[in-house]
Amino acid sequence: MIEESQHFETQAVRTQTEKTQFLEHSTPMYLTSGFVFEDAEEMRASFAEEKERNLYSRFSNPNTSEFVDKICKLEGAEDGYAFATGMAAVFSTFAALLNSGDHIVSARSVFGSTHTLFTKYFPKWNIDTSYFTLNEVEKIENLIRPNTKIIYAESPTNPGVDVLDLEWLGNIARKHNLLLIIDNCFATPYLQNPIAFGADLVIHSATKLIDGQGRVLGGVTVGKKDLIREIYLFSRNTGPALSPFNAWVLSKSLETLAVRVDRHCENAFKLAVFLEAHPKVNWVKYPFLKSHLQYKVAKKQMKLGGNIVAFEVTGGVKAGQNFFDNLQMCSLSANLGDTRTIVTHPASTTHSKLADEDKIAVGITDGMVRCSVGLEHIDDIINDIDQALEKL
Ligand SMILES: *Cc1c(COP(=O)(O)O)cnc(C)c1O
Repeated sequence: MIEESQHFETQAVRTQTEKTQFLEHSTPMYLTSGFVFEDAEEMRASFAEEKERNLYSRFSNPNTSEFVDKICKLEGAEDGYAFATGMAAVFSTFAALLNSGDHIVSARSVFGSTHTLFTKYFPKWNIDTSYFTLNEVEKIENLIRPNTKIIYAESPTNPGVDVLDLEWLGNIARKHNLLLIIDNCFATPYLQNPIAFGADLVIHSATKLIDGQGRVLGGVTVGKKDLIREIYLFSRNTGPALSPFNAWVLSKSLETLAVRVDRHCENAFKLAVFLEAHPKVNWVKYPFLKSHLQYKVAKKQMKLGGNIVAFEVTGGVKAGQNFFDNLQMCSLSANLGDTRTIVTHPASTTHSKLADEDKIAVGITDGMVRCSVGLEHIDDIINDIDQALEKL
């Protein structure tokens, strides 16, 4: 999907900031808050943006620029800006582009904190959001108002791993002259490139599979140059910038993204197949299982199915809790996309703030488990989950 001649893996490894006089092979860390100028005229010209260079690390830094350049190449984007967290990216993107009185049309099933932005904070600035659920996507056009500015969605969704048809959303956005913004966190740039399907902007929480090793927080927004310009100006004045150290870690992580995600997906698929045949499991959701309702759409827009498997254990809440307590290896944690397999109970943790009807609308049941499948040997992952199910 990337138009340049080199492949994804090559660009992820070879995109680098300029070398210094030491001709280092691996990009060094530029832990500096500011940069010096030759003379007063250079400083004036730089601040006037007549000259492109680093001024101050809240604006740009060689490490953050390398990270952003790479994500742009991997997503097929024109430009981008890197943030301290995924939520800083989500918030700053909306805050930079929206005015009081604007309206958002969003998928109901979005990351918990994004949902809180829409329901608790944006109304303070007279920005309203209307929601479509997955099984009523045809109704999306009825939600569009004269003041609607953005269509927003994640695919696959958290935690239900539902899949939205990005090409279809892109067509609706174009027809109504709206911006389409996609949170591509679950897929990573390796599995899915929303810009190729008509998205104007793509957001990532780099904390997840992009770091992939549970070490640092980060976020990034990439897409059309004029939109990124607005987001950059907002961010250079409000200060949600990614630290150069985290940018260095994340840029290094991207060098191994393809091989890591290949194995994550292979493990996740094997676990999903195993769970589907297990008598103590009511249902399993994984985009590349034939039983997934949007299997065809997933196959069309994703290279592989991702590393998140959702399933429901038989026996309701109590069985669900026992399942978690029976696990010996898999971690109980809120993060995802780590090397370590992590299980979460969305109903009592990440999505506990959702009203009951919202939980039902996004497919969160009391016995639902979200599993972020890691890079341990698949036999060990399956054995741990199997013994925890057997004890129920
Ligand atoms: C984790 C996550 C975020 C938020 O990212 P942070 O780096 O934790 O701030 C946003 N969207 C999705 C889909 C996520 O999974």
